[in-house]
Amino acid sequence: MAKKYVYFFGPGKADGTSEMKNLLGGKGANLAEMCNLGLPVPAGFTVTTDCCTDYFANKSKFPAGMMDQVKTALTKVENVMGMKFGDPKNPLLVAGRSGARMSMPGMMETVLNIGLSSKTVPALIAKTGNARFVYDSYRRLMMMYSDVVMEKAEGIEPKDDKGIRHQLEEIMKEVKQKKGVELDTDLSADDLKQLCELFKERIKKAMGKEFPDDPMKQLEGSIGAVFKSWNGKRAIAYRNIENIPHTWGTAVNIQAMVFGNMGDTSATGVAFTRNPANGENKFFGEYLVNAQGEDVVAGIRTPWPINEMTKNEHTAHLPSLQKKMPKLYTQLDAIKNKLEKHYKNMQDLEFTIQEGRLWMLQTRDGKRTGLAAVNMAMDMLAEKLIDTETAILRVKPAQLDEFLHPIIDPNAEKNASLIGKGLPAGPGGAFGKIVFTSDDAVEWAKRGEKVLLVRDETNPEDIAGMRAAEGILTARGGMTSHAALVARSWGKCCIVGAADFKIDFSKNEVIVKGKSFKEGHIFTLNGTKGTVYDGQLQMIDATENPRLKAFLKLIDKYKSMKVRANADTPEDAARARNFGAEGIGLFRTEHMFLSDGHDEPKAYMVQMILADNEKERRAALDKLFPFMKKDIKETMKAMSGYPVTIRLLDPPLHEVLPSRDDTREKLAGMINIPAEEIKKRAALLHEVNPMLGHRGVRLGITFPELTEMQIRAILESAAELKKENIKAIPEIMVPVTCDEREIKDHKLIYDRVLAEVIKKYSLKGLECMYGTMIEIPRACLLSHQMAETAEFFSFGTNDLTQMSFGFSRDDIGSFLSEYLERKILTEDPFQTIDQSGVGQLVQCSCVRGRSVNPKLKLGVCGEHGGDPDSIAFFYKVGLNYVSCSPFRVPIARLAVAHAEIDAKKAPAKKAPAKKVPAKKATAKKPAKKKPVTKKAAKKKK
Ligand code: ADP
Ligand code: MG
Ligand code: MG
Repeated sequence: MAKKYVYFFGPGKADGTSEMKNLLGGKGANLAEMCNLGLPVPAGFTVTTDCCTDYFANKSKFPAGMMDQVKTALTKVENVMGMKFGDPKNPLLVAGRSGARMSMPGMMETVLNIGLSSKTVPALIAKTGNARFVYDSYRRLMMMYSDVVMEKAEGIEPKDDKGIRHQLEEIMKEVKQKKGVELDTDLSADDLKQLCELFKERIKKAMGKEFPDDPMKQLEGSIGAVFKSWNGKRAIAYRNIENIPHTWGTAVNIQAMVFGNMGDTSATGVAFTRNPANGENKFFGEYLVNAQGEDVVAGIRTPWPINEMTKNEHTAHLPSLQKKMPKLYTQLDAIKNKLEKHYKNMQDLEFTIQEGRLWMLQTRDGKRTGLAAVNMAMDMLAEKLIDTETAILRVKPAQLDEFLHPIIDPNAEKNASLIGKGLPAGPGGAFGKIVFTSDDAVEWAKRGEKVLLVRDETNPEDIAGMRAAEGILTARGGMTSHAALVARSWGKCCIVGAADFKIDFSKNEVIVKGKSFKEGHIFTLNGTKGTVYDGQLQMIDATENPRLKAFLKLIDKYKSMKVRANADTPEDAARARNFGAEGIGLFRTEHMFLSDGHDEPKAYMVQMILADNEKERRAALDKLFPFMKKDIKETMKAMSGYPVTIRLLDPPLHEVLPSRDDTREKLAGMINIPAEEIKKRAALLHEVNPMLGHRGVRLGITFPELTEMQIRAILESAAELKKENIKAIPEIMVPVTCDEREIKDHKLIYDRVLAEVIKKYSLKGLECMYGTMIEIPRACLLSHQMAETAEFFSFGTNDLTQMSFGFSRDDIGSFLSEYLERKILTEDPFQTIDQSGVGQLVQCSCVRGRSVNPKLKLGVCGEHGGDPDSIAFFYKVGLNYVSCSPFRVPIARLAVAHAEIDAKKAPAKKAPAKKVPAKKATAKKPAKKKPVTKKAAKKKK
């Protein structure tokens, strides 16, 4: 039998369900589900994503049998709706709507009012007695169809961005001007009729062919065009940003049209079952009377609030749906409750009211800010709508980042000069130089500027600039406008509908109440309040939020993999503890030579480097010793009870020598030598390739006394803390090793100093560990040898990535973007671990290391330790801990909790699991690797 490409949905019954997102796309699956729930949904059918991929495989031709299935399903729709497609008496119109597995809002195309033709137009007028409505629908069809099907799908790139849609909009503007009206709704039936004629002419002239008058042709054209919109520029760009596979394809939903533009008893709207910006449990939405389709989202007319309770100062004067159509509002509110109860998640709804009758057009899990995600998860948990694990899974690790981003200091805000106001669409604070185009935002950000993108409204073409900007400000649009939706999904500060901001592109400035601000002027936005201030305001951190703390409490028990912090100072250590870090995974001893304000130890270090013989070197090291000990001791104290991994000196020596003349003078003075001497030595130490030069363990091999001094400082600190009854657990880590003999060499020093310290402090023993950083591919391969001496490994995945790819960490910028664009790489390997290559080395090292030492402790301390996707991988290979910067600790902890919960749910998948998990796994790389070894996972402790 031929493949089933077409799935019907209609009142009370559908072929599909919400579980079938992969095949039907999110929109199709949820339309089916709403039908099954008995909600009022216009009947229709879904052409599958499978059909889309077959279509592309088949040189963009419909696979055999598909159109027959479409026609059969169309007949079913006709029967249910009591109208006939293309019928000259009682015509059915349909919408052709895109819908991928994961929602890609506004990124693909939709064509409405399909089926209007020279025959059906008069029929519909006769039937409805509403010529104005019919011609309004007709001109909309022509606009969408010519743009989507005749231009975009044909791959036509219009000159100067003056595409057919733009041209038609210009014509419409002219007609409005001639008639002296401002709103589309003020055009009369005759005006619109005339407009339709003008549109037809222009389309023929511009596109070189007629707008098709055959409804079936329109339908076929629309299906193909929606398929093709999967490969439209902005859809591709969006998938790149969101990491959605390009192979999925989109479904097409053909659905009976219902009309929100039939007059004052008709309307269309968008709503969220809870507030998507802050999570408040209040039904929140916007609508427009006598409007169709995208009017609400496009920001062409300012939409009205759906109810009284969510009105604010900007919307207080507008009529709510609740007041205007109370019965319908009550019905909608009941549907909202039903849907939220069913999906157990905040829903994003689209509805249309046709002459007093409510129709549901869409539902999906709503995008939300991190703040809203946390608040909703905690609320729904309290309401017993979801369980703890679901609550945890509801917040994406990356969303916590928002809490870790600044908000405006309320004190600074009190005295700030307010320029204007808009709707609070995306939370937090942001400041930056204002720019007026997406391209400028990208360009300025590239050269390191913080920018705010200021636009009349945004559309999907602005995605890159919105991404690059610190914050977004638009003059038009409501809370459900494109800018608002996109900003929220990224947790980006955003204000929309700031009507006082009038951009003058010709002068590159924005005028607010008579005052002008040039491009490059600094504004500060408060996206939580919707206020715009002049100049740059002080920011503070949002981590003190009590809701966040309560949420983090939920994840406390998911600790089979620990999270540590990379911290070099007692303050960082304390902050990390505060965020729930259980130890330090990387303490860099060199911070005291490389950061400012450490002149004295730096001077002694310089002295050590300049020394000609061991004796002089030891003398300098002796002076350095107390400084090193003090720092280490305080940090271990701040981490009392938790392990602290201290890495022996890592960077090449010349990096430690001052390069600036003034510091060189100063340090030279402190140790009584000529500054020239330092300069000369620096020149001598210069290396062609310092990353692969005299650094790490190699320093200790040539200067064993340097290693000895550091180990002594560490162990004496631990001994003294022990005497003070403070539990210190140092882990001494030797960096950049490539051979077991290096580790054995240093182990001799370690053993000797340990014995000496134990004796000096009259101790019975001292809790400490000796191990190495694994960051050279050779070390991974020889891990069974390295593990004979090392008690722990910590993967330095930055260097390991550098040396595996042969990509310089510091120079990758010059070619990475090309690699990503051309899909040679899918991700920056320095941000997300390359599982197939570098990951394989890590995995091999774990297996080989543990084969000789089952108790070998394994961790990671590169940038990847704070990256959620990498963490999921590290969890699978069975690491004991990850370590990341203190501010990423909450993100990493949540990623660990997700990994644990997902792992727990995975085996149960055989049973028809209820919704939820898998989403992440299927969204990203399909879980190729099974959890490496159950054993490895268990061995953790
Ligand atoms: P998107 O994925 O961009 O949201 P949709 O397929 O939801 O695209 O279509 C956009 C808009 O078109 C909807 O918000 C709705 O207002 C309108 N629309 C879609 N289908 C219908 C329909 N069957 N009847 C009336 N309006 C529709
Ligand atoms: Mg939609
Ligand atoms: Mg390194």
